Amino acid sequence: MTQLLEQLAALTGLRDRDALDAGLVAAVADLTRARRVAVHRVVGDEGAQRWLTRAQRGESPHVPALVPLWTDSGDQPALDEQPAWRDCLLTGRPRAWRASDSLSLFPLPGQNGQGGVVEVVTERPPTPAQVRGVNAVLAVVRNQLGLLDYSERDTLTGLLNRKSFDDSFYKAAIQPVQDLLPDGQTERRQTAPPRYWLAVLDIDHFKQVNDNFGHVIGDEVLLIVSQLMCSTFRYYDQLYRFGGEEFVVLLRCTTEEDAFLAFDRFRSRVATHNFPQVHRLTLSIGFTDVRPGDTPVAAVERADRAVYYAKNHGRDQVRSLEALVRQGRLVDDDKSSEVEFF
Ligand code: GH3
Ligand code: MG
Ligand code: MG
Repeated sequence: MTQLLEQLAALTGLRDRDALDAGLVAAVADLTRARRVAVHRVVGDEGAQRWLTRAQRGESPHVPALVPLWTDSGDQPALDEQPAWRDCLLTGRPRAWRASDSLSLFPLPGQNGQGGVVEVVTERPPTPAQVRGVNAVLAVVRNQLGLLDYSERDTLTGLLNRKSFDDSFYKAAIQPVQDLLPDGQTERRQTAPPRYWLAVLDIDHFKQVNDNFGHVIGDEVLLIVSQLMCSTFRYYDQLYRFGGEEFVVLLRCTTEEDAFLAFDRFRSRVATHNFPQVHRLTLSIGFTDVRPGDTPVAAVERADRAVYYAKNHGRDQVRSLEALVRQGRLVDDDKSSEVEFF
């Protein structure tokens, strides 16, 4: 009982999704004396969902191994390739079978398509007290995730809010991506490692939407734009509403050209979408690379300058700050500030 209380107390102190998945694995492993505990989460778009093993702990090492949410090695099993996991998640009922090495599955419902299952392998079937313990741990994790969603997400669109941006940005700017991939994956990689790109997306003439059709339609437009974002970008790209009609994307890809194509694909989807009453709507998008040692303020400012350029050159377009600098149309303030003054 004391051990369970200690585990629950530790979990309620966690304010980070990565830490919660690792903490969940550690707590379940300790409570059940399991040989193996793993958290598998569903990632990817509707219809193309796959299983990502987020965190796991075996007999050794004792520290849970954590796999970043944006991992995409292409070999994660499809949703239907693990029917037992899928059924456990969809029915919401724990399952236990395979008496030889007692395998149990516990559902892990989650918002925003982040549900999953907890796989527990024990020597003997877990006792009723252990099952109750695991269920208590899962309830605490669910509540913690609900609180995180509440504080990190924008209420109108469900996208991440400004407050959660800085942490993710620093992770993107600091972590060398290749060092975080699971063992072996770096050797398999043939191409350059992915980098991050930050884009600011601003709806064109949005004030006119409110003026001509009212705020309710304006809000609906914001909601539709956010839904189009969710279905256009990849699951590991991070999507934010910064307030008003301004959105931000932290995109993970290898080259500036690929980043341009991803943002331009979204621009074109919005430009060809038939919005209720408003019908046509366009966006101006500016983006920049995330540099080592970058700060959120500096990067957003650079992307904003590219948006401003797009607004002044016809709107409905994507501009890269780096391209504008190369073309001599803008000066890179970051580079000029590298000059030392004595
Ligand atoms: P530009 O093409 O230069 O970006 O012009 P704009 O009209 O989009 O830009 P401006 O910044 O002048 O106006 C933004 C408008 O967005 C002003 C405000 O009425 C509206 N707005 C901000 N937040 C919300 C919101 O939450 N809901 C609705 N409906 N409107 C909002
Ligand atoms: Mg604006
Ligand atoms: Mg605008």
